Amino acid sequence: MVKINGKTKLVGIVGYPVAHTLSPAMHNAAFQAVNLNWAYLPFHVEEDGFEDFIKGASRVENLVGLNVTMPYKEKILPFLAETTPQAEMLGAVNTIHFQDGRIIGHNTDGRGFLFSLKNDGRKDPASKRALVIGAGGAAKSVAISLAASGAKEIFIVNRTKEKAANLADLVTRLFQIPAKGFGMDGDLKEAVEASELIINATPLGMLSDEVPPFFKYVGKKHFLYDLTYSIKEPRLLSEVKAKGGKGMDGSGMLLYQGAAAFEIWTHLDPPVNVMKRALLDNLKLKGD
Ligand code: NAP
Repeated sequence: MVKINGKTKLVGIVGYPVAHTLSPAMHNAAFQAVNLNWAYLPFHVEEDGFEDFIKGASRVENLVGLNVTMPYKEKILPFLAETTPQAEMLGAVNTIHFQDGRIIGHNTDGRGFLFSLKNDGRKDPASKRALVIGAGGAAKSVAISLAASGAKEIFIVNRTKEKAANLADLVTRLFQIPAKGFGMDGDLKEAVEASELIINATPLGMLSDEVPPFFKYVGKKHFLYDLTYSIKEPRLLSEVKAKGGKGMDGSGMLLYQGAAAFEIWTHLDPPVNVMKRALLDNLKLKGD
């Protein structure tokens, strides 16, 4: 247990709701492991209180930073003095750092995803074609990270086709690589067969056993990175494995984006193994 006293520094997560978060377990284990007198707390803040909360938080001298989650990843932007280039490109922030009365905004999702894919998945997106399912905040981080890492071409598939097309346009505009958007029931045979990597950046497979129709083209050449995570294997990952492909869930992305936040706030190397153990133990405790 973290021992709190008058000198404890605080970090935390602000969102609504945040009851499901695994970040306190991960960060508090890390602080204990490196012997820091710090504590990580959840802040459940309703929308009409968010502005007051952020203005107040920036005056708390022992509050070092916060993770920012739904629905505030964009709503935080007007309060920031500075954003990193990644956060700027994404137009969304998931980590803030209070520094000398100024709030600096970071986005560590893309960094967490790429590190997990390359380090644990042993997959380098350079010169590969990739198909991203989803066009929300996480899909945007993923698509931009893939493009920035030298992916050859990116296909975006989304329930709302227009959002897929917009994200594809953004990728092409920023990185000058081909990208194309599709709806879920689009003609995806060529795109799936051309892609080596498939990334699920939607809750598909979490809420139901539904598998998108284009999964009929998935085979043993495919590697699925599924951003969802729970104690059970994600439904889409099971489907890919049943067809001879490989893949992994999104717990590594959660771990490494948390590790990146730890580094931003403390300027220390994060104890990644301790954080991973805490994350996995708490996933088991949650049992979902
Ligand atoms: P978001 O901005 O709300 O976007 C949600 C995306 O999922 C949109 O593309 C949406 O399609 C699609 N979607 C939602 N419900 C769907 C359904 N029933 N059928 C098909 N598509 C559906 O959310 P986000 O932040 O991008 O998060 C997306 C997923 O990634 C979530 O499952 C989240 O838990 C996960 N995630 C994981 C990590 C990690 O560290 N592992 C980090 C961030 C996010 P429309 O555009 O048509 O609405």
